[in-house]
Amino acid sequence: MKKTALVTGASAGIGKATAIYLARHGYTVYGGARRTDNMLDLRSYGITPIALDVTKDESVVACVNQIFAAEGSIDILVNNAGFGLEGAIEDLPMQDARYQLEVNVFGAMRLAQLVLPKMRENRYGKIVNISSVGGKIAFPLGGWYHASKFALEALSDSMRNEVKEFGIDVIVVEPGATRSEWGTVATDILLKVSGHTAYKDLAAKTHSLFTRLAKDVAEPIVIAELVRKGIEAKIPKARYTTSQLASLLLLGLKRILSDRQLDRLIMSQIK
Ligand code: NDP
Repeated sequence: MKKTALVTGASAGIGKATAIYLARHGYTVYGGARRTDNMLDLRSYGITPIALDVTKDESVVACVNQIFAAEGSIDILVNNAGFGLEGAIEDLPMQDARYQLEVNVFGAMRLAQLVLPKMRENRYGKIVNISSVGGKIAFPLGGWYHASKFALEALSDSMRNEVKEFGIDVIVVEPGATRSEWGTVATDILLKVSGHTAYKDLAAKTHSLFTRLAKDVAEPIVIAELVRKGIEAKIPKARYTTSQLASLLLLGLKRILSDRQLDRLIMSQIK
């Protein structure tokens, strides 16, 4: 039986690559995002684009109901929609911080709430939450982004053991720097928010770190492959992390270094 997947954030980057990759591998795929024009090309892969704003409940409910009406259920949910709110915690308006969590955390969890009843009924389901290496390590000026990804990691851990007995797997995928629109969106916000404040030097250094990272990014297909690996594994791992050396090194060092040593390491990257 063909499985039905909903990939959020399918208008760009990792989400678009994942939607196409899953469609190519035999899944019935729906892609959700706000910019429907950017998803028109998905139709040529047999993917159905749906207008979706994960921060708007009526949009989320309508999207899920449209797929239920056509397919009966959503077997695989890839919670990928997200962005990076960069800027000093002192500088960022609280409403922006709340919006970051609305998109990266509440949007994903609301979708999970809506697809879980049918997954339980079918005794089959995969919920893939696209976190980040930044869901394990927090850099300065990315506080709210990291908070959103740390939260997604914790929620995934809780949910994994809540739904296991119903035949449902919760899988976290942690990309490192990946080619997409993420960097441009994050950098624009960073310079706007903290480019002219007490944090401007740190913002400039962080900007230059992003520019350096952008030269050594993985292709989004790498993450799409990890998603498929997770959903097709008989017993999926709780987490699939990018195999980029820089990410593996950071995560490994996080395990063995003291907080103070890790701080020094992080700040040595921002120079
Ligand atoms: P992109 O900016 O290329 O894509 C982000 C996607 O999220 C777009 O399709 C965008 O669609 C969608 N999106 C944003 N806000 C909403 C919303 N309110 N409702 C619905 N969709 C929304 O970035 P990536 O592909 O890189 O990001 C995908 C995920 O991967 C994110 O969760 C990101 O945090 C994570 N990640 C990315 C890394 C990277 O280096 N690229 C590294 C680690 C994690 P639209 O604007 O059309 O709504």
